[in-house]
Amino acid sequence: MIVRAEFERLELTLSEPFAIARGSRETTTNVVVRLTDADGATGVGAAAPSTRYGETPATVEAVLPRFLDAVESVGNPDARQRLERRLGETVRGNPAARAAVSIALCDLAATRLGVPLYRLWGLDPDAAPPTSYTIGLAAPERMGEKAAAAVDAGHDVLKVKVGTDDDEARVAAVRAAAPDAQLRVDANEAWTPKEAVARCGALADHGVEFVEQPVSADDPDGLRYVTERVPLPVIADESCRDAGDVADLAGRVDGVNLKLTKCGGIRETRRAIHAARAAGLEVMLGCMVETNAAIAAACHLAPLVDYADLDGSLLLADDPYEGVGVDGGDLRLDALDRPGTGARRRE
Ligand code: MG
Repeated sequence: MIVRAEFERLELTLSEPFAIARGSRETTTNVVVRLTDADGATGVGAAAPSTRYGETPATVEAVLPRFLDAVESVGNPDARQRLERRLGETVRGNPAARAAVSIALCDLAATRLGVPLYRLWGLDPDAAPPTSYTIGLAAPERMGEKAAAAVDAGHDVLKVKVGTDDDEARVAAVRAAAPDAQLRVDANEAWTPKEAVARCGALADHGVEFVEQPVSADDPDGLRYVTERVPLPVIADESCRDAGDVADLAGRVDGVNLKLTKCGGIRETRRAIHAARAAGLEVMLGCMVETNAAIAAACHLAPLVDYADLDGSLLLADDPYEGVGVDGGDLRLDALDRPGTGARRRE
């Protein structure tokens, strides 16, 4: 039985300011959920609320008591189908808060069984794609320096933020600093459809592999317009919150970027992965700038996807939680020496 369900705010500082087309940040706030059973086993998860999706630390803290009451009313961490149903009946929406509870429940259940989540699910650790490392927006020279440092640290897949007046200079600087790296770009909704078409042509010349969310999520026809005209695959992120969006995106884009925080937990993310596969879409698994208390769980789903972007903790100055090891960009699920998600408070 779950005897204690609690949460705490986690204020996190980034190793350096992180900018995307929508804005810049130096800190972020997560909310960590901890569940404890009668034997003293614990499960942890975390919420990384995003105002882009209508959540803040305050909304997470406002709704968590109701979610945790629902968890305690079921009590049995093995009864996750019933738990998820009860959570769904409790209050709608609030996917980041819901994800924190979902992750903590899965962590606790797998910990009680003594196995890492990916083994519980029978997934192949060698099938997990390497995570990209994100180069935030800055002056072109600075982005080149960041790319060179990332390559030195062993990363050979870089995700470059774009959506400025001079994206080509930025991508050119990154490419010059990382001639052998795989490069992807993410415009975070910044372009008009016509700008996207013009810019993607130039970016393709720098060997960019795909473009994420070129236009506003409010413009689904614009997404299709871009997909039909650019030489790069188009991946939807802001346009794809959960499995319910996947069917609408089939035919408009080439793939979707799914996140535990957007989908509202592990069960919903798996549903969205399978829905995307059934619709013939490629699947990327992403994250927010967030603690390993959340990201560790996503790493266990990585064997199911084509692309991983699970570097959120790597962008933090000091994540109090360790998670699945990252060696260069390789997710080392096979090296996990502890059960559950592997998220654990550092000593
Ligand atoms: Mg994105």
